[in-house]
Amino acid sequence: MATWILFNSGASGIPIVSAMAGSQLAENLETSSKMELVTFLNRFDRAGTFLVARVGEGVESTDLLAEDVSFVTNLNASTSADTYRFFRDGNGKPVVVAMSGTEPIEIFRGNRKDKLINFLNKYPTATVFDVAPMGSEIPVIVAPPNNNPIYRGRGVMLEIGHGPGTRFDPGAIAPTGDTEYSLNVIAANAAREVITAAGVPCVVIDTPQVSLRYLYSIGRQAGDFDVFCSVHHNAFDGPGGRDPQGSEVLVHRSKADAPDRRLAALMSRAMATELGIRNRGVKDNINLLVLSGAEDTNVRAAVLAELYFLDAPVSNRQEWSERGGRAMGESIVQWLKETALRN
Ligand SMILES: [Zn+2]
Repeated sequence: MATWILFNSGASGIPIVSAMAGSQLAENLETSSKMELVTFLNRFDRAGTFLVARVGEGVESTDLLAEDVSFVTNLNASTSADTYRFFRDGNGKPVVVAMSGTEPIEIFRGNRKDKLINFLNKYPTATVFDVAPMGSEIPVIVAPPNNNPIYRGRGVMLEIGHGPGTRFDPGAIAPTGDTEYSLNVIAANAAREVITAAGVPCVVIDTPQVSLRYLYSIGRQAGDFDVFCSVHHNAFDGPGGRDPQGSEVLVHRSKADAPDRRLAALMSRAMATELGIRNRGVKDNINLLVLSGAEDTNVRAAVLAELYFLDAPVSNRQEWSERGGRAMGESIVQWLKETALRN
């Protein structure tokens, strides 16, 4: 009974797709035909995930096969694709790109077989697939260059809350064991993908937060950026917390100005709408050292996002964080466009 699917570039250049039962091979398919691939994938209904092999290794540890978020990035929905190309990223995760010639049209990240099948069905004009040679660069979708860029500084800096080494504040922990930090990583990377796709440079920082004082210096790195956003998930205030599920975005009570508040309002609304939860809106907070540091630079707007309450019942936190992160990215792009028009 196959439990997962392995993609390999065959010696002849024709991909070999293996249905695997644990570390045992159940069945091989050698083909470049997308239709044959989809039929094969559908036959193994107990196989929920897939992996792209490291070259020279038929089978590897199944540790990597924890089901993770699967999502797509697309700027050119109207363009037709001709090929699906499978990559393996630096972390061993699959990346599948719908290509039109040498141009990437849409990028799928994740390891869920059901999501992969949906993606494979999305471009009927693409009838073949291949597995990229090891070490191939994974394409990036970037908006065409624009004479009137929507950013004026260095673009966007996203800060992942509760980075490695955090001592004073481990962040919240969901009932499922997802740490706030791990969800912050998912959200920040999803936001970065959206922001980069809009043609705006985006840096994600993930720094040890060894002391409270250090939070202030993390914020100080926002200098010369257009937007600084610290990425977090909320948690109820101790046992018995009764706050309704919702999104909120914090600004520094005494240092925030209108652009900060406008971005916070857009962001909170975008995340709440995407997740179908209450929009708790803009919250002032005086104790945010990371925002205090950012506000003491020339950054145009600085906010701290709390995507949702991770200790409330949520069906799939990783998926929520990915979707909320994308909404966060979209709101930043919207704010950059608004402020570009006004000036
Ligand atoms: Zn936090």
